[in-house]
Amino acid sequence: MNRRRFLKSGSLGAGAAVALTGCGGDEKLIPFLIPEENIIPGVDQWTPSTCAVCPAGCGILVRSAPGEARVLREGQERRQTVLQVKKIEGNPDHVVNRGRLCARGQAGPQILYNPDRIRTPLKISGPRGSGQYLPISWDEGLSLLERKLEPLRASGAASGLAAIVGHSSVRRQSLMSEFLRALGSERCYREEPLGTPVLREANRRVFGRQELEVHDLENAHYILSFGADILGAHTSPVRYNLGLGHFRQGRPGERGKFVQIEGRFSLTAANADEWLPARPGTEGEVALALAHVILKEELFDKESVKSINGFEAFRQWVLKKYAPEDVAEALDVPAKRIARVAREFARHQPGLALTGGAAVAHPYGLFTAGAVHSLNALVGNPGKRGGILWTASSRKRAAPVPAPARQWAEDLVSAPGSIQVLILWDANPAYRAPASAGALESLEKTPFIAAFSSFMNDSTAYADLILPDRTFLERYDVVEPEVTAGTRVVSLVQPIVTSMYESRDCADVVLALARKWGGKTGAALPDSDFREYLKRNLGAEDVLNHGSFSAEDMDSFWSALKGKGVWVDDATDKARVTVDLTFLPGAEPLPPAERESAEYPFSLQPFASLALGEGNTANLPWMQELPDPMTSIVWGTWIEMNPRTAVEFGIEHGELVWLESASGKIEAPVFLTPAARPDVVSIPFGHGHRFYGRYARGRGVNPWEIIVPRSVKDTGEPAWAATRVKVIKTGQKARVIQLGQDRGHTPEELHR
Ligand code: SF4
Repeated sequence: MNRRRFLKSGSLGAGAAVALTGCGGDEKLIPFLIPEENIIPGVDQWTPSTCAVCPAGCGILVRSAPGEARVLREGQERRQTVLQVKKIEGNPDHVVNRGRLCARGQAGPQILYNPDRIRTPLKISGPRGSGQYLPISWDEGLSLLERKLEPLRASGAASGLAAIVGHSSVRRQSLMSEFLRALGSERCYREEPLGTPVLREANRRVFGRQELEVHDLENAHYILSFGADILGAHTSPVRYNLGLGHFRQGRPGERGKFVQIEGRFSLTAANADEWLPARPGTEGEVALALAHVILKEELFDKESVKSINGFEAFRQWVLKKYAPEDVAEALDVPAKRIARVAREFARHQPGLALTGGAAVAHPYGLFTAGAVHSLNALVGNPGKRGGILWTASSRKRAAPVPAPARQWAEDLVSAPGSIQVLILWDANPAYRAPASAGALESLEKTPFIAAFSSFMNDSTAYADLILPDRTFLERYDVVEPEVTAGTRVVSLVQPIVTSMYESRDCADVVLALARKWGGKTGAALPDSDFREYLKRNLGAEDVLNHGSFSAEDMDSFWSALKGKGVWVDDATDKARVTVDLTFLPGAEPLPPAERESAEYPFSLQPFASLALGEGNTANLPWMQELPDPMTSIVWGTWIEMNPRTAVEFGIEHGELVWLESASGKIEAPVFLTPAARPDVVSIPFGHGHRFYGRYARGRGVNPWEIIVPRSVKDTGEPAWAATRVKVIKTGQKARVIQLGQDRGHTPEELHR
């Protein structure tokens, strides 16, 4: 019997009714007596799903159990017995993470039960950016959204409608792109993890494939990483930790060597067998100096290079320009060391070279990624075991790929007033772009902004209307991780619990609008809800009757997927790998000395933090409390600096300093570490939110405030590691909170 029938049946006796009334009314108590369906009192459940905290797509098992909670239904708060998420573990049967999980994945329940979640639709009631909103009903919210969209839709060419969709869901990016396209707008923009677009473009140029390559660490004998913080915040930290563990200890009698090349002593550098602290921004030249040794000493794979397009021109150019003894000083890596590492790499095959992070976030980032791949090409590892591989490509129809988010501000600057309505969906463009690039001003100038979001963030706070979205523990989605070799992985995100608040899956909201409007939009998106959209887009021809479980129709496939959480197609990708190095000689960077500046003597090297990533987990207290693995600092920003530099400037450990660039200045305490290069200051991304809940707001500083808006050549992506700064002493001390070394902080200081 459900609650409605229970109420109608009058099955409560008169005495009970009196007792209930006396306790505050039957509307408040009956739901507690009649719990939600699917709840078995006293029994917990483990449900497979997928972590969506970052795009890596790790499989999870979520433990849920009945519990009493205050839930918001139809504007009323009630006590009710509901399923509650108690714990998240890694799914041992999942091909990406094999039962492991990172700390951010473990913190998933703090997203679900975060006290700062948006609970009802909100309408702005004060100036934009003030955070002043009034709760409204879903009917009011949807009707306001429709009123704003209707004139654009009626015009038949809704180019004034734009959307920016966050990187937590590629499928939602595709859905919004299709929705806008059906309305006549091509202005759907997607956020992507930092650096990913540069890596994709390098792959397209060198290998003719836009997907990220897979690194077969388990079968490699030698790994060269140019700035990729694979153990920290690279594309799939759990997968890389597992791979590196096997590389080191999983093959009795055989231990691979791992060399990290980057200007900052990251977690990955600290765990490498050897660290080459090259001058920041010269990682591409280091790769070519290694290539020089391999070419000169003919250590390359003679068969493989025959099929490299542009090999001879590349060979001559590298031999002429990148002799280690000629470039060593500029790169700040001894020539002998370059030669030794090059020989080791070439002689210990299979091996691979990879890049990421700050190494591809300067104007020559694309050149760097191409130069790193030239090493893979020379040793003939593309497409080979222990080298670089690709996931099996799907035969299904290609999902539309929205434009990169950075283009939104560019489009608005080049055509002011051209965007009338902007939808922000789990996106935060005002936080993750150089402050001086004008993202905030662009938001302010947009006539109407609607945000679909679970939280008030730095951009949502500029919306006129906010519709509360569901978290990944309350909705459906499908993730297809790109990190496993030779397989297509379909990993299901499924609702574990019903939402405690008046949130909705905004994908369902979009589909409902499309159906209501009919015509071209309804024809493009005929699905009754997002689950049906996902099923349709998986492509029956692609997933039925093969792979890790067999199903004859999509309903059976979906039902099996719900039970297992993941489907794996073990067919290997047999597409031939082509290699083209023709673009490299023409993309040669300026000499390192010409990239420096007397006014700003330090290279600013921001980095994605292990706990906060690029900032999306800054609102979780567990993540604020998680000590940074290199400094043990919690709850705030720090600036890493070499002690010799500090002595030169008269700066002490823990002293507040200003970092000033041509774009602005920020203040943070100094953390002295002898592992820092004397000409580099490093600072984590993730802090410095203007909004984002009580744990994140106003805590630390955001490096984007001083990053000079330059772009990675030929990609337009922000060159966030190319900013030069000066350090200005303040003479004031700050209390840097370090685990195990500082016990003088009150809970109020930590949790203010
Ligand atoms: S790497 Fe961590 S945050 Fe990312 S999907 Fe895996 S468990 Fe989640």
